[in-house]
Amino acid sequence: MANQILAVDLSVQKKYQQILTEQSKNTDELPLAVIPGIDIKEERLAQEVKKSFIQFLIKQFRHAKSKTYDLSKDQRELDFRTTKYHIKLDPSDNDIAIKMCTLCRGYCCYRGEKYAYITPTMLKQIIQKNAKKSILSIVRTYTNDLPQHYIKGSCVYHTDKGCSLTPDFRSDVCNNFYCKPLAEAIKDIRKQPKEKRCVIAKNESYVVNSAVI
Ligand code: SF4
Ligand code: SF4
Repeated sequence: MANQILAVDLSVQKKYQQILTEQSKNTDELPLAVIPGIDIKEERLAQEVKKSFIQFLIKQFRHAKSKTYDLSKDQRELDFRTTKYHIKLDPSDNDIAIKMCTLCRGYCCYRGEKYAYITPTMLKQIIQKNAKKSILSIVRTYTNDLPQHYIKGSCVYHTDKGCSLTPDFRSDVCNNFYCKPLAEAIKDIRKQPKEKRCVIAKNESYVVNSAVI
């Protein structure tokens, strides 16, 4: 465990030591998990951001409906399906994953920029799953779900309260991606499910959140 502490940066070490002291525990009694995190504030979803997202959305729907669009161009889908999907959650992992992602506040959503991981491939699947709905009504769900305020610079549906997009309309990336640090933590927890641990969420340079869970 000492090596684990040395491997993390100073801000994490300090926070971990502080929590160990508060809890009167040593490192073996309270293992550490470090996950990503963001502390970016919400701001009004500006009209121009909304407009450019809707233009992007319409273009993706056109590609999804096109017979000539080459779906192999969907780089994000390919990334997700090949290298970037780190763990398949068991139902028993859900609670802990939700707690950790809440501490993180959605770094992976932030990495999706404003585009919500929407690709022609996933829209094609959504259109097929909602065969009884018109394309217009599907587009309307996407536009109606846009929030008033969002995490600045992140996905347009990313709010302080979580994702404002209807779950069935989210991409597979949104519904199934779990980052490597979280996947590692979950694998550890599976070995000792009853053990409490210290979870520290950190952005590029400092700790943004922490909890004992
Ligand atoms: S999967 Fe990882 S990056 Fe995404 S919200 Fe959860 S902890 Fe954060
Ligand atoms: S649609 Fe929701 S889950 Fe997907 S990136 Fe945006 S905020 Fe995150």
